[in-house]
Amino acid sequence: MKIQFSAGGIVFKRIGDKTEILVSQHSQHHGWVFPKGLIGDHVEKENKEETALREVKEEAGVNGKITRALNPITYWFVMDSEKIRKTVYYFLMEYVNGDISKHDHEMEAVVWLPKEKVEERLTYESDKTVWKEAKNLI
Ligand code: ATP
Repeated sequence: MKIQFSAGGIVFKRIGDKTEILVSQHSQHHGWVFPKGLIGDHVEKENKEETALREVKEEAGVNGKITRALNPITYWFVMDSEKIRKTVYYFLMEYVNGDISKHDHEMEAVVWLPKEKVEERLTYESDKTVWKEAKNLI
């Protein structure tokens, strides 16, 4: 059994009285998710907030400003016949600047969705759980 820790962002953007949320489609497993990545994988001694901001920029093309931490989620998967338990620390982030068309290859699509459409788009139950928490705070 292996344990992994990742960090990512639920980014919101206000347009008048509407709120849009950044959601992306993973290039490998094709699930609709929030951008995230392994903590300490690319940059040594990077903390989870720094990882979350960097991954949002790389995978989704935008800069966010963290407004608060959300409750971590945990899920299991199997890779090369090894069981992996992954905990993901998501942060609620307000959109600052940047362009979703500038995302890297890890996501095959990045979109802004109206707040009301996010839950039905998300692929995984644990993401729906953290989204429910985030939605009540936005
Ligand atoms: P990271 O973005 O943390 O670097 P990754 O992109 O390499 O990770 P994951 O997105 O964690 O990988 O996907 C690994 C496996 O877990 C895939 O099989 C995927 O379908 C599954 N998975 C991804 N997110 C979830 C989730 N929230 N709940 C359950 N299974 C998930």
